[in-house]
Amino acid sequence: MIKLENVYKSFGDLLVLKGINLEVAEGEVVCIIGPSGSGKSTMLRCMNQLETITSGKILIDGNLVSHIDEGKDLLNLPEKEASKLRTSLGMVFQRFNLFPHLTVLENLTIAPELVKGEKKENITGKAMSLLKSVGLLDKKDEFPSKLSGGQQQRVAIARALAMNPSIMLFDEPTSALDPELVGEVLEVMKKLAEEGMTMVVVTHEMGFAREVGTRVIFMDEGQIVEEGTPEEIFDAPKMERTNVFLNKIL
Ligand code: ADP
Ligand code: MG
Repeated sequence: MIKLENVYKSFGDLLVLKGINLEVAEGEVVCIIGPSGSGKSTMLRCMNQLETITSGKILIDGNLVSHIDEGKDLLNLPEKEASKLRTSLGMVFQRFNLFPHLTVLENLTIAPELVKGEKKENITGKAMSLLKSVGLLDKKDEFPSKLSGGQQQRVAIARALAMNPSIMLFDEPTSALDPELVGEVLEVMKKLAEEGMTMVVVTHEMGFAREVGTRVIFMDEGQIVEEGTPEEIFDAPKMERTNVFLNKIL
């Protein structure tokens, strides 16, 4: 579903991703852990084309979406096609970024309407069933400011799903939440994983990574240092850097 081949990304002189090779298969839940500043968010943002890579290749769903060599764009995808490919990836950020002037229901219907040109009456049914699945159908006419952080983040997940993505990317979706609200969001993500969604999750929630992750990747200084099953990474890390990191946080 996702393939990164020798991906490099710099911001000016700062080299942030140093030759990332990664494949994510259908139905996998890949959890990415690692210290702050190691390039986790940048990697996710490169996957869904929010950042342009400096060199390397990215394939999504079998389609080449970036191919850059020594700064030369060898693919030159027309913007229309690039934006269509982007919709196969849903993204949920640390901050919920809901549209404050729209109701919960409208937050779900706006992108399918504007980006995909779907008719409102056709998508309302699906939006309602998504709200039901995240336990927030009764909030459909509320504005985001009336919801708790956990509820807002569940709306953000439903909103991403309303675009029918084949892959969901999560960037520390629970880091901005009060501790008592973390569980309800992880629960929704766990359900999504059980339904077979392909997911890449940057997280500090090691319990989630262990229970729901099919694979755990440890990143440090722009590189994938180690990857394996949750048991391999948490119970018997092979690399010293992984060990040091886990000892700090567990
Ligand atoms: P993580 O998510 O693992 O904490 P990030 O991917 O956010 O790491 O950041 C990796 C490095 O890239 C950091 O040093 C950060 O300051 C830098 N960085 C991220 N985004 C930008 C940007 N838009 N411009 C310049 N530097 C950036
Ligand atoms: Mg980050």
